[in-house]
Amino acid sequence: MAEKNSCHKVNIDSINSSGFGVCRVDGVVCFVAGGVTGDELEIKIIKSKKNYNIGKIEKIITPSPKRQENDCSVFKKCGGCVYRHVKYSDEIKIKETGVRDAFERIGHFENINLKPIISADSSLRYRNKAQYPVKNENGKFYAGFFASRTHEIIPCDDCLLQPEIFSEIVKEVCAWAEKNNISSFDERTGKGTLRHIYLRIAEATNEVMLTLVSTQKKIKNQDELVKTMTEKFPEIKSIVLNINPEKTNVILGKKCINLYGKGYITDILCGTKIKISPLSFYQVNRLQAQKLYEKAKEYMGDVKGKNVIDLYCGTGTIGLCTAKDAERLIGVEIIPEAIADAKENAELNGRENTEFICGDAEKAAEVLKEKNIKADIIIVDPPRKGLTPKLIETISEFNSERVVYVSCDPATLARDCEIFKNYNFNVIEATPVDLFPRTAHCETVALIKR
Ligand code: SAH
Repeated sequence: MAEKNSCHKVNIDSINSSGFGVCRVDGVVCFVAGGVTGDELEIKIIKSKKNYNIGKIEKIITPSPKRQENDCSVFKKCGGCVYRHVKYSDEIKIKETGVRDAFERIGHFENINLKPIISADSSLRYRNKAQYPVKNENGKFYAGFFASRTHEIIPCDDCLLQPEIFSEIVKEVCAWAEKNNISSFDERTGKGTLRHIYLRIAEATNEVMLTLVSTQKKIKNQDELVKTMTEKFPEIKSIVLNINPEKTNVILGKKCINLYGKGYITDILCGTKIKISPLSFYQVNRLQAQKLYEKAKEYMGDVKGKNVIDLYCGTGTIGLCTAKDAERLIGVEIIPEAIADAKENAELNGRENTEFICGDAEKAAEVLKEKNIKADIIIVDPPRKGLTPKLIETISEFNSERVVYVSCDPATLARDCEIFKNYNFNVIEATPVDLFPRTAHCETVALIKR
């Protein structure tokens, strides 16, 4: 066992799915933050456990050719990116390997037909959504990001994943808050007013939505803020106050008050108009989401005359974008606001053959099955925890030809695909899509057929 604080010369063999360099010390696996495959390093053991160690880089003896200069001043503190020190061309290979490993090790697939990862044209400023925690520290007001695994706020003026206009807007809101001495929410005491500055941009229309998350229904001099912001930033089409008085680390409350505009902005995704409101889910990387949806559409095959069920449909985007020619589209989603948006999105795009049901996917699928609803193609896009065995069973009871599984977690995707095998379904093909460059996350879309 390597002793704590002991130093070792190591070679990094791989990067794991959380972005840690992996090596061995005295035969035991060791994870090194910032280590890159091909690095020769001197490391110090900072945590020594029976079956693994955590090491810290003391010195880079020979840097890996996969390295690049880190371009962000808060990279090591902030919990967002893990790959700023790795060339993008290598990052996507690491992600592709991660998805393959998940299918092989977790799903026990021997010959998974994994297509090359769909990479992003740009790994910079691709996000269309940001939520900045704020702090009033003795009259100085700033916004930033939470430090990795803590709730300490790292001041940050400009994040390289966010559009530049977000940084400008945040600075202006902070200036207003400082001038008016607005208090910031303190998670430990539950006191204070302003919690987060939350921004969204609809890239296709350049409409921006500014949401202030507050414990109070009214903030001192909020009218002045609305006036300043809309004068300085004509892109801002909506300003919303979201009320969250709870002593919780959940960012958004349930209630929204419109301060300016209609309370939503409109984007265009795969030629489909999409309404985005503060509480509804919307893909954060629009350009990559379009590529993901195109792949999902290809996996759905010809939808003409077919019935399509879109489970975990959010605001209905996947179904509305991919199943334009379908006979019927049924979407299921648990958040009522998202369902309301989905219905409006359908109307906005003149889609009459659609129904959106608010409820739990597992239960709703059972109800649809009991009603003998036909489903030729079933799309699923669950959160990270994936599907339940019960839902997989219910899906198998529809006489659908194809299941298109969109996943943000390769581990649960692989686990679920193995369960699908019990019902005579098999993975025909899967494609990773890099929706979140520079972060540890990777999206995958899989075609599963009976
Ligand atoms: N398909 C959409 C949204 C995917 S995100 C898109 O591409 O935009 C996953 C969605 O599942 C979220 O909108 C979340 O609210 C919803 N969700 C989470 N748990 C659910 C459940 N048990 N039943 C139905 N929907 C659920």
